[in-house]
Amino acid sequence: MADTPRGAILQRDKETYAIVPRSPAGLLTAENLEAFASVVRKYEIPVVKITSGQRVALVGIKGEDVEKVWNDLGMDAGKATELCVHYAQACPGTAVCRFGVQDSLGLGLELEKFFEGVDLPAKLKFGVSGCPFCCAESYVRDLGIIGKKSGWTVAVGGHSGGRPRIADEIAEDLTTEQVLDLCKKSLDHYRSNAKKKERMSAFVDRIGLESFKQSVL
Ligand code: SF4
Repeated sequence: MADTPRGAILQRDKETYAIVPRSPAGLLTAENLEAFASVVRKYEIPVVKITSGQRVALVGIKGEDVEKVWNDLGMDAGKATELCVHYAQACPGTAVCRFGVQDSLGLGLELEKFFEGVDLPAKLKFGVSGCPFCCAESYVRDLGIIGKKSGWTVAVGGHSGGRPRIADEIAEDLTTEQVLDLCKKSLDHYRSNAKKKERMSAFVDRIGLESFKQSVL
């Protein structure tokens, strides 16, 4: 819609908007939290909601206030409806979790930095877990990465929703550099060969897992 304010999503009342500021790997600073509290009070934002993607949605903002809220927040807009990489969901991993065997938070931040906003046939989400307990829902993300003692496992084609699909493992025992390289090859292959709006899961089902693996490994 031409007159939709920057980074805003029209709500069901057809009058107010939601925004979802970018918070890579779900991390927020004290400054972010203070800015959230300030804009919620100042612009009387009625709903503040943690999303499934570990982000904060501010919902019910008047159209004329959206740009002012962005300016006051000093944060970038997260991707929420565009056909691109939306976010990397990551668990705490070895940074703080006693079960962690890999640095999922660090890898999640790297994936966000490299791929956030990259144009694709459909939306795409990463899930990075620091151990096989898989708290970052890696097997129901388009590209799921799971930390094990021997290295990273990468799985492709998962999603949640009404008809969930469990991602298929395509590689294991990878270093962080190898994971980044495999993710880049997977996104390049997907971008070049998928139909518009075809999610990674449907793409893998259509071309076949073996074909996908041969193209990216
Ligand atoms: S997946 Fe493992 S490392 Fe990550 S939060 Fe869960 S238990 Fe901790």
